[in-house]
Formats: sequence, structure tokens, C-alpha cells
Amino acid sequence: MSAYLASTLGLIEGVLVIGSIVNDSTVVYYRLATEQIPARGPKVLNALIVSDVHSNIEAFQSVVNDADRHGGFDEIWSLGDLIGYGPDPSAVIGLLGQHKHKAVIGNHDLASIGKLSLEAFNPYAKEANLWTGRQLTSDERNFLDRQPQIIEEGEFVMCHGSPRDPVWEYVVSITAAVASFNHFDTYRCLLGHSHIPFICRPKGDDSAEFQTPQFGVPLPLNSDRMIINPGGVGQPRDGDPRASYAIYDSEPETVTHYRVDYDIKTTQDKMREHKLPEFLIERLEFGK
Ligand code: ZN
Repeated sequence: MSAYLASTLGLIEGVLVIGSIVNDSTVVYYRLATEQIPARGPKVLNALIVSDVHSNIEAFQSVVNDADRHGGFDEIWSLGDLIGYGPDPSAVIGLLGQHKHKAVIGNHDLASIGKLSLEAFNPYAKEANLWTGRQLTSDERNFLDRQPQIIEEGEFVMCHGSPRDPVWEYVVSITAAVASFNHFDTYRCLLGHSHIPFICRPKGDDSAEFQTPQFGVPLPLNSDRMIINPGGVGQPRDGDPRASYAIYDSEPETVTHYRVDYDIKTTQDKMREHKLPEFLIERLEFGK
């Protein structure tokens, strides 16, 4: 194939072409000048990845402000459970709605809009979901009701629980991780639900390895298969009470986990004012 034809077609052997020609013994590669290389994926994008905000506007606002300090974001990817537990469901829905976003629905969201039986929840969660449901306007209910259980975006699959059972399954065991890897065919899956930040990779066909992320350190994604949990914004459960979140940067392709302090006392005071269960109020300061 001539260099001219190569430049016309734009692709040879899966390698982008135009510009200088480099020979090795078997294949001819036509290299693009750096400025001609298009971004991989649909576009250059920074996405703020959040999960389990749980009606905690102080935590959510702190995360948005912190993400701005770390270079900002083009859109928010929410992995479910925007509401339930905390005192500000409407404010949290409002803050997400102010930004371009993609959002999947979680079990507490479904229960609060009457689309999932409350009987499957523990008494504290049940009480909080009942209270939450009474606070929502019909617009807010519709906003949640339009959210799907699974979204595919480029090489990401997003869900709340797991790709096998987006509503209920917790990916906290090797068994659940192995089953999850068999239920999506992109490189990466983003999920929440456990409120524990982690990176999980397959190990052979029948095992998997969980890692705690290094906060503030970009993780190169390459073409590795991974399940990534950004942790919980509004009710972390890994022993660290600070809000947990992540940022995806499409150029270069990395995900970085972060932690940020928020005004826990204000959230707790509002929960007491609304007579939400004391157990849910106290756990915020322990991150458990
Ligand atoms: Zn949750």
C-alpha cells in the first residue's frame, strides 16, 4: 500500500497513519505526527465518579469543590444511592442535576420512590427510606425513575451493586468479583454499594485480587480489566470518615481516588432535627 493510500485510508494494520514511514523487518508502520493523533475514545473528558452520596449535601458539595481543585471535571458519573440515610435528598438531586451527568439507580433510590420493597432493608435503612420518600417532589421522583440500572460508556460499564445484580449484589468477595468479570465485556466496571474504595483485577480465570487505592495517585488504566469502586461520598464504611470519590481522566487514561473532609457535625445536626435514626447519625464520624 502506498503512503498516499495509507494516508487516505488513515489506518493500516490497526496503526494510525500519515506522516513519516518507519520500517522494521516485517511490518511497515506509518506514524502520525503527535499533534495529529486523535484522542482515544469519544472525546477528552474528565469525569467525577461518585457513589452512595446518600442525601449528604455537605459531603457531596465538598467532593465537587475538591474535584474542582484537582483540575475540574466535564461531567459527573453517579453510581447510585444518591439518597437514603441522610437529611438532604432534594439538595443532592439538585446538585447532580446542575451538572452534566450520567447516573445509575441504586437500591435506596428505588426503595425511596416505591419501586423496591422496604422489607428487604434493615430497620434503620427502612425508616430513613420512608422519611426520604416523603421529602421528594414528583419531579425528583421522575429524575430518579429515569435512571437505568446499567450504563455502558466507552470501555466502562457502570452499575450500583454488580453487573450481575445491579440492585443488590455486593462485590466484596473474590467469588462475587469473578462472577462480575464474567458479566461485562468492556475493560472496566465502575460500581459502588459497599461504600468501600477499591480496585479489583482478575487473577487467572477463577480468582481476583482487591487492592486499596493510593489516594491522590493516578492509576493508569491501559487495557487492563478492572472493577473500580470510588468509595462512599456520604457514608464511607472503610474506617475513614472523609468523603471518598474518584476522577477519570481520558487523556492519559487514569483513575485517581481522593478523600476530602466535610462538615460531619452539620450533617449530624440536621439528621437529629429530622429525627433520623441515631445509629445512622453516629456512624458518620467513624466512617463505619
Ligand atoms: Zn449505599
